[in-house]
Amino acid sequence: MLAGKTAIVTGSNSGIGLGVAIELAKAGAAVVINSFTDREEDHALAAQIAAETGAPVRYIAADMSKGDDCRALVEKAGGCDILVNNAGIQYVAAVDEFPVEKWNAILAINLSSAFHTTAAALPGMKAKGWGRIVNIASAHGLTASPFKSAYVAAKHGVVGLTKTVALEVAGQGITCNAICPGYVLTPLVEAQIPDQMKVHNMDRDTVIREVMLQRQPSRQFATVEQMGGTAVFLCSDAAAQITGTTISVDGGWTAL
Ligand code: NAD
Repeated sequence: MLAGKTAIVTGSNSGIGLGVAIELAKAGAAVVINSFTDREEDHALAAQIAAETGAPVRYIAADMSKGDDCRALVEKAGGCDILVNNAGIQYVAAVDEFPVEKWNAILAINLSSAFHTTAAALPGMKAKGWGRIVNIASAHGLTASPFKSAYVAAKHGVVGLTKTVALEVAGQGITCNAICPGYVLTPLVEAQIPDQMKVHNMDRDTVIREVMLQRQPSRQFATVEQMGGTAVFLCSDAAAQITGTTISVDGGWTAL
């Protein structure tokens, strides 16, 4: 379905970004995966996805906390037809104790990177008359939680950027949407489970259901494959008139 299209997925050597990159490659896109490291294993991961899917897959290192790196990523990829802004980090602290450097890093990586990559990718998409921009926001792009001020502010910003870009390119064959995941079982989340089990003195299933997924009515994690499938759908012809909006994949969180 996506043969002949090139996709860039930022922050994709792990978690949701990796899941999205694999589903796009399975759908036939040539995929560029990315993170800020430049290790042998990063390039080996690209080769592995290529071998498993039959799609061309490259790894390009670029630090999404730096605007110039974000723009250079798009340039080194030779432009792209599909841009998935996924790179993101989290930090949890009360707003009056929130470290300034953490605030700046979260705003840079989770929000400003999407501005820079979008600005760099759009001229090529406009020239071709086709483009798909998929921003990985969060349920926290639509609702708030205490102690996550930078993350919630950045993700609400991503939703605002999504709407604005969609309006600017409407009618030019380019769509821009945000996926808003609830809790997804990524390595980052998996790593929190043992600590939560200790703190709450609960077994794995109970801590997942009663503590971690307390706000997710399905009481089930969303999966990286479901995020990838949603991204592929947004790249399909069926989604050509879906633009400037959010798709929640959150087990009902934002219906509450
Ligand atoms: P993760 O830590 O597994 O993946 C984050 C990715 O971003 C990694 O590949 C990491 O290398 C990359 N990254 C971090 N800093 C970077 C930088 N400076 N430059 C380039 N790449 C960088 O986390 P994840 O859970 O897969 O999260 C991916 C996205 O999904 C984030 O934007 C996150 O906010 C969002 N999200 C996650 C969840 C969840 O429950 N896991 C829920 C909602 C939204």
